[in-house]
Amino acid sequence: MSEPLVIVGNGMAAARLVDELTKIALGRYAIAVIGDEPRLAYNRVLLSSVLAGETASHEIELRSASWWQDRGVTLKYGCLATEIDVGRRELKIANDESIAFSKLILATGSAPLRLNVPGADLAGVRTFRDSRDVDLLLTLAAQKKRVVVVGGGLLGLEAAYGLAKAGAPVTLIHLMDRLMERQLDAPAAELLKSLVERKGIKILLNANTARIYGESHVEGVELADGRRIEADAVIFAAGSTIPCKLVRRVFSRSANAPSIAASVMAWSSRPTSRRGCWRGISPAMPPATPAAWSRRT
Ligand SMILES: Cc1cc2nc3c(=O)[nH]c(=O)nc-3n(C[C@H](O)[C@H](O)[C@H](O)COP(=O)(O)OP(=O)(O)OC[C@H]3O[C@@H](n4cnc5c(N)ncnc54)[C@H](O)[C@@H]3O)c2cc1C
Repeated sequence: MSEPLVIVGNGMAAARLVDELTKIALGRYAIAVIGDEPRLAYNRVLLSSVLAGETASHEIELRSASWWQDRGVTLKYGCLATEIDVGRRELKIANDESIAFSKLILATGSAPLRLNVPGADLAGVRTFRDSRDVDLLLTLAAQKKRVVVVGGGLLGLEAAYGLAKAGAPVTLIHLMDRLMERQLDAPAAELLKSLVERKGIKILLNANTARIYGESHVEGVELADGRRIEADAVIFAAGSTIPCKLVRRVFSRSANAPSIAASVMAWSSRPTSRRGCWRGISPAMPPATPAAWSRRT
């Protein structure tokens, strides 16, 4: 009989994992994939092209519905996994449903970083991570809303470019004295800045976000040096972190942590050693122990 294997996260890593598993051991596992996004797995990297109007949203799908079906995979999308009951080997989903597993893989990717500043939870403050964000950004642009993008790395530049191309007045603010400071030296960053400005994007450097102001909705951003930028929306595009909640719950609630580590694995196409995040590990490696995990948090 096939062993029940559940994958949490319906992203790029999950799609690749199912591809590999079914190539080498079709039928060995009864695979279920649980993803909170309301669509089939897609190539997240191409979201920037969708935002820029260069690719249609349906074109970035990694695999068709029939591909998953042919491999006997149970797909549940639009479902948030909320809890892992390790003792009973059950995964709980937001709608109170439970799924039994023999092996559980966490392929939950990363979550966008939100700056911890006053006003960060106001309506109109968003991130750029999934296709729901792209739909919203395109709506803002169509309505000519004034948008501030926080972050002058690749993600921020791609968000600003897509928004501006779609018609939004965009200001990009960046903490450092030059764009993409990790990748570019000063002359190259200056050249990039002038090219981006030619696209109609206003760029503010040395811009440290002090707070986002507004009554119940964003009205603007105030910088630490007192500068104010009026805005209808703020997009955080300043990095990402691993969504740890599910993993943290597993280990914090368990009296029998080693057996959990043996049955729960994390798989990520983007391992991280960022402080506070669980390092993505490949199934070929021994899983992280709870002790090691708590040292990192
Ligand atoms: C706009 C953009 C451009 C990018 N460009 C590049 C690039 O050029 N090059 C590059 O190398 N990388 C790029 N990246 C990063 C790249 O997309 C990620 O590294 C990659 O998507 C990671 O794949 P993953 O499958 O591990 O996670 P993800 O693709 O993030 O998939 C994880 C899935 O799990 C879901 N999930 C999380 N928690 C739960 C839960 N509790 N229950 C159910 N589902 C859950 C998430 O909603 C998500 O759908 C880009 C990212 C973005 C957003």
